[in-house]
Amino acid sequence: MQITAKTQKVGLLGWPLGHSLSPAMHNAAFAASGLDYIYLPLSTPPNLLSQAVAGIRALGFVGVNVTIPHKVAIMDYLDEVDISAKLVGAVNTIVVKEARLIGYNTDADGYIRSLEQAGITIAGKSAVIFGAGGAARAVVAGLVGADIASVTIGARDQSKADGIAQLFAGAVPVNGVAWDSSAFAAALSQTNLVVNATPLGMYPAIAGQPSVPWDLLQQSVVISDLVYNPPITSFIAEGTRRGHTVVGGAGMLIEQGALAFELWTGCKADTQVMRQALLAGLEAINKN
Ligand code: NAP
Repeated sequence: MQITAKTQKVGLLGWPLGHSLSPAMHNAAFAASGLDYIYLPLSTPPNLLSQAVAGIRALGFVGVNVTIPHKVAIMDYLDEVDISAKLVGAVNTIVVKEARLIGYNTDADGYIRSLEQAGITIAGKSAVIFGAGGAARAVVAGLVGADIASVTIGARDQSKADGIAQLFAGAVPVNGVAWDSSAFAAALSQTNLVVNATPLGMYPAIAGQPSVPWDLLQQSVVISDLVYNPPITSFIAEGTRRGHTVVGGAGMLIEQGALAFELWTGCKADTQVMRQALLAGLEAINKN
């Protein structure tokens, strides 16, 4: 592709960026769409974040993605924070509109879209989540927004699960419990969806998975893993072996990226092209 003065710039603010696959996914989608955009890795140490944000504005970027460790700190430098980011408590996408920086979060909707892509509907169902970090909070926001009937968050530290539950408890019951409690086992025996929102099973410790008492689960339960490296985790493989419908974490990563692409360009992203780029990138990383 030819980069000219007209090429629109987006990128990724994070530190360290290491093996991020967002540039590969987005540049593949831009090429497939014929849009004259480029997605740049913008490695930014925490002490230079405010200067980097000024640079985004000064250099005429259309927007950026934001990743660890800047997703919360960046809020201080924005002109506006959208409700999607307020609910998740973090910004993963910035759009520059008429020199104003607006922060969004596309993880919650990206997660729900990944379930929809797999033919799974959420309204009126119940979910159990392992883990109570940032990803769990995004999943709860997505599920509550998609009219789920109840959510149970289980963590090794109950106070963290309670903390997220309290943010969302309202019209929908959202409970935080310790994952070794009888309340957690009871929720698992009645749920429609089990989500791994911990890093258990992530490369290179790929044998890990949340300790699910599989015999308690109903056969119709959907198994969902947010871990996307490897694309087929031990948890997903075990769910498949036991005959459950499974949804891997690559879908959420692709869909949150596609939503950012749509915010920047106003066009739909080719998620098949993004998936191919992601899987090729993961294969290359895991080979080295
Ligand atoms: P996080 O904020 O660090 O939270 C991780 C959660 O898992 C915490 O509840 C933590 O418990 C728990 N945990 C961590 N290590 C554990 C262990 N060895 N045993 C049991 N529990 C453990 O991380 P996050 O941002 O929520 O991310 C969680 C996972 O989701 C990561 O693997 C990440 O790659 C993945 N993710 C995927 C996507 C996607 O698009 N597919 C998006 C976001 C995140 P403590 O608080 O007690 O440590």
